[in-house]
Amino acid sequence: MSILVIGGAGYIGSHNVHALVERGEDVVVLDNLVTGHRQAVHPNARFYEGDLRSAADLDRVFSEQQIEAVMHFAAFSLVGESVVQPLKYFNNNVGGMQSLLEGMARHHVDRLVFSSTAAVYGEPERVPISEDDPKNPTNPYGESKLIMERMMRWAGEACGIRWVSLRYFNVGGALADGHIGEDHHPESHLIPLILQVPLGRRSHISIFGDDYPTRDGSCIRDYLHVMDLADAHIRALDYLKDGGSPLVCNLGNGQGFSVFEMVEAARKVTGHPVPAKVEGRRAGDPAQLVASSDRARTVLGWQPEAGIEEIIASAWNWHVQHPQGFGDRS
Ligand code: UDP
Repeated sequence: MSILVIGGAGYIGSHNVHALVERGEDVVVLDNLVTGHRQAVHPNARFYEGDLRSAADLDRVFSEQQIEAVMHFAAFSLVGESVVQPLKYFNNNVGGMQSLLEGMARHHVDRLVFSSTAAVYGEPERVPISEDDPKNPTNPYGESKLIMERMMRWAGEACGIRWVSLRYFNVGGALADGHIGEDHHPESHLIPLILQVPLGRRSHISIFGDDYPTRDGSCIRDYLHVMDLADAHIRALDYLKDGGSPLVCNLGNGQGFSVFEMVEAARKVTGHPVPAKVEGRRAGDPAQLVASSDRARTVLGWQPEAGIEEIIASAWNWHVQHPQGFGDRS
């Protein structure tokens, strides 16, 4: 039996595929390569190029392979773009979930691990954020993921599909040997943008706002290593295999770092001065997002290991080895 990883050519998906293969799982990847990279897919995984929204593409995978469980990473995830093009997000993300649940029901596959986000909470009323706190997304991306969670809940009850939804906070880092890593076009995430400065690809890092009600005025986020995240996904698969009921878990380190602190950590890791310039706030950024991951610890037995310097160092290792990323996009 195999695990189907949808979006297994993307940043987070490809690291999860790697962790699954390392554990000895048989892995099948479905990815439309719109944002993913063919080279990121582990050579031992069987690759299908296809679109989740196509029933024919899904039927092909489900009928050719013996799929026991699905991990779903295939979604658009740029907050700013989602505000400008909300329907693109509802079409791809919500449409993809609809098609997946229908496909799983058609082929009697009943276990699903889903990649959700802290963006479902919107501006938090308190930190650390717990799973049952209010969910008021402030952008279509977060709204699309919240709708996807609710679709799983309703369809799961009706069709007997059991699921785990993992709400990630900020994810960074790369595989230890640096052969896969983060490569987005355009790049909008803080860690890879900071590292473009020592790589000589930008003159400075912009700090989006220093007037937030935080300890140094810049935004505070909870950064998690992508391989700690992969470990949580594998634990979620095991939880479902052992008969676990539907579950939502936050995933974060539980410690917040400001943008200034992240820049300082990158200076330490790279030995580069990394000039920074304070600019205006970026629309839609909450001041602080920090996770309570107590539920993941208790229910899944998950314990993240890497701190921010290890996250940044592994990302740096990848970028130094691949200054142009996978080199398949201009
Ligand atoms: N950020 C920044 N400069 C940049 C990119 C991001 O100051 O060039 C800030 C951003 O405002 C946020 C934090 O860094 O507070 C993390 O942003 P990212 O886009 O990596 O993740 P998000 O928290 O939006 O999911």
